[in-house]
Amino acid sequence: MKSRVYIIAVSIPICFITAFLLIICLCNPHTGVTIGNETAEDNAAPGVEATISPNNSRDDGTNSSETVKTPSLNSGLKVAYLTFDDGPSNLTPELLSTLESCNVHATFFVVGLQAKQYPDTLKQMVSDGDVIGVHSWTHKYSYIYKNTQNFLDDFDKLDDYIKQETGVAPNICRFPGGTNNTVCFSYNKNHIMKSIVPLVENMGFTYYDWNVSSGESNTNPPSKENIISSVVSQCKGKNIAVILFHDAYHQSYVDAIPEIVSELSSMGFTFDTLSPDDPPRSKLFATQFKPS
Ligand SMILES: [Zn+2]
Repeated sequence: MKSRVYIIAVSIPICFITAFLLIICLCNPHTGVTIGNETAEDNAAPGVEATISPNNSRDDGTNSSETVKTPSLNSGLKVAYLTFDDGPSNLTPELLSTLESCNVHATFFVVGLQAKQYPDTLKQMVSDGDVIGVHSWTHKYSYIYKNTQNFLDDFDKLDDYIKQETGVAPNICRFPGGTNNTVCFSYNKNHIMKSIVPLVENMGFTYYDWNVSSGESNTNPPSKENIISSVVSQCKGKNIAVILFHDAYHQSYVDAIPEIVSELSSMGFTFDTLSPDDPPRSKLFATQFKPS
């Protein structure tokens, strides 16, 4: 009898403590990881990056305003998305072979004026199982960010071209410079992103910025070693890594891929291509841009 009373006396506080902890967990689902590198792409030419200065940016081009909801934090699932902007270029065929040999696929946000020069490479991306998203036909900030009509004309031209050349209609995109770029203010006193982000979404596109940058904001081409260490260090602590590379001009990006894939794999990452649902938008707590 005594031991029964003792068990009851011990069990009641344990139940209360357990219930209390459970309530705290349920009420706080937003434990998050930061998503936030933001560098801007130069307005004059694709492939060249200039660091932008959003209000909340740090000197290293990162900001902490964007977080990812983290159901996956608890699941332990880690996914890396290799994304390449501004191509295709003369380096892309070697890049595609490298991706193949690493047994991974990537997402390419292409530039129309480049794609026109390498239409076969565009087709190769699709036949390899890689994904093509809309970036910009001209990649010229002074034109595309001057007004909404210019932006849409440029966007639609590339959208149509990708469909025509590959037979696949793109459904993802990346704004030149990212959605947090402030360079567009130079060409339009209004915040044009407030207009064009919802327009593009209404057209059925999902846009993606990035939360890991391979270092292209450097004026000089980064070395292969620097690219690897930069990417790997930024991926630490992340479950979702959307990694920005440039598919143009610099051999070091191609050379860095095998080791990056190997290092991230050993960190537990798997690799995937971006799609409208992957990573799920529901997991993006604060998207890269807040059209408030
Ligand atoms: Zn770009």
